[in-house]
Amino acid sequence: MHYCFGYCKDCQTVHSLPSAQAIPYCYELMEQLRQHQRIDFDLPEALANPLLSTDVLYSEMRGRMFGILVCEDRQGKEVVLRAFSSRHNGVWNVDNWVPPLVDEHRFKATVSAGDVDIHPLTDLISGLRKGSKEWLEKVAERRIVSQGVLARLYALYTLHNFKGEQRSLQGAFNTSKGIPVGTGDCCAPKLLNYAAIHQLKPLSLAEFFWGKETASGHRREGDFQVACSEKCQPILGYMLCGAGV
Ligand SMILES: [Zn+2]
Ligand SMILES: [Zn+2]
Repeated sequence: MHYCFGYCKDCQTVHSLPSAQAIPYCYELMEQLRQHQRIDFDLPEALANPLLSTDVLYSEMRGRMFGILVCEDRQGKEVVLRAFSSRHNGVWNVDNWVPPLVDEHRFKATVSAGDVDIHPLTDLISGLRKGSKEWLEKVAERRIVSQGVLARLYALYTLHNFKGEQRSLQGAFNTSKGIPVGTGDCCAPKLLNYAAIHQLKPLSLAEFFWGKETASGHRREGDFQVACSEKCQPILGYMLCGAGV
């Protein structure tokens, strides 16, 4: 089974990573989450950060994806990396989990700067008659401003691959459709980017869902999932390039 794959424009082929070797580590991680009900389970309970409890995964926020990447370092020693998708309860960086692709503070600063441009427009729009000429103009203007903010956020992401190359999100993204919000924040890109930067050879990757099932019932706790087609598959071809599997 290959849960992690994507089409590489450069090689004109699909690159993928097998999942089998990562599966037992996923079960181990599920057991840790079940037992400790927090993601900072490496720490003694007295030092646990309340924000890192898994309670949020059973709230209306629902569950999220977790992932394992098994790698080999230059000496051939096995290294097991783990990731949670996006943020956990608003927390970006947790010890012993791979970090996000973007710097938290630069990301937040960019969002705040964008809000300064967007909020006055939103206020203005709310005071206009819906559907009027001016309303339509201001809605269009706000869309352009938001797209600019999004482009600045995307520019903060740099994707690394296993040929020692790096590319922007726009450069790596492999469809002409717009880049969805949150691209690069899933487990697979976090894990692969970390491995590429640290000269680790990726061997096996698997991702599973943990927490309250999604509203559609499509994802249930403990389910393994294929890398998502809208955000991950379009960048994984590039990110896996040079991994040699
Ligand atoms: Zn994804
Ligand atoms: Zn390639």
